[in-house]
Amino acid sequence: MTILKEREKSTMQRVLESLNRRTTLSDSDLQTFSQLEKGFEGEQRFDQFVIEFVDDDYLVINDLLLIINGTTIQIDSLLITGQEIYMYEIKNFKGEYMNSPNYLKTFSGEEILNPVNQLNRTVVVFRQLLKQWQVRMELMSAVIYVNPQFTLYKAEETDNIILPTALPYHLIGLNRKRRPLTRDHHTLAERLLKAHQSEFSFQKKRSVYDYESLRKGLTCVKCGSFELLVNEKNVRCHTCKAIKPLNETVLANVEEFRIIFPNDKVTTEKMENWCGKQVSNKRIWLILRNKYKKVGKTRGSHYL
Ligand SMILES: [Zn+2]
Repeated sequence: MTILKEREKSTMQRVLESLNRRTTLSDSDLQTFSQLEKGFEGEQRFDQFVIEFVDDDYLVINDLLLIINGTTIQIDSLLITGQEIYMYEIKNFKGEYMNSPNYLKTFSGEEILNPVNQLNRTVVVFRQLLKQWQVRMELMSAVIYVNPQFTLYKAEETDNIILPTALPYHLIGLNRKRRPLTRDHHTLAERLLKAHQSEFSFQKKRSVYDYESLRKGLTCVKCGSFELLVNEKNVRCHTCKAIKPLNETVLANVEEFRIIFPNDKVTTEKMENWCGKQVSNKRIWLILRNKYKKVGKTRGSHYL
């Protein structure tokens, strides 16, 4: 199995993760953040299952964002085998739900849209692309519920649903369908990766946070903690005990600033302040100069 596109946290998730450390998130952002985190955890759990149970020479593309005939679709996981394409929508819901055509219902009466409908729409649009590209492969799809604490009542076998307990068997079953990958399969994967869209135009809105109100200071690359011992070379984290090079830590914090404030200029002074004055002005200047392109010559210069 070859993973052609690894799963990564979305920019939105990274921004909210960082803001959550440095300030108090608004209620709606906190909700978005929690959903993104749960979703990502679920996807990672699925990825672990794939690594554990799929041993054949299949191609895996995660988190594919495509615009097809003006419609945007997002595919959590796509598996290309010698015989078929499998499209998976991954859900990390927890608890007991009742299945119905349009909604999943909890016993307390809460309703959420049935993900199968969303998946079916994605399938229709993706088929248009396959047709345009003259790919004549069978397309299978399923909503995968990965959380072991999830139960769905009244689910039919025809519903394109894979429940947590059935997931290993489903994946093991794929290994029995042996037909080798050909050049065509690789070409299809390459074309899909090329068509993949960057997520920026697709971002949800979030609250605006004032720079001044955010907590300043270096955070640990590994766990995000502010409890660091900073010396000339390294940064030692009191929370997770990781020891990371100072330069790497500063750069990660600069990147954090850039994704939160994409329109603000990165200057030496600003980054010195952002890092809580834990690193000297000269050192920051050197780090920025080595990594980024400098714009302007004098004190007002900034980095791209
Ligand atoms: Zn740490």
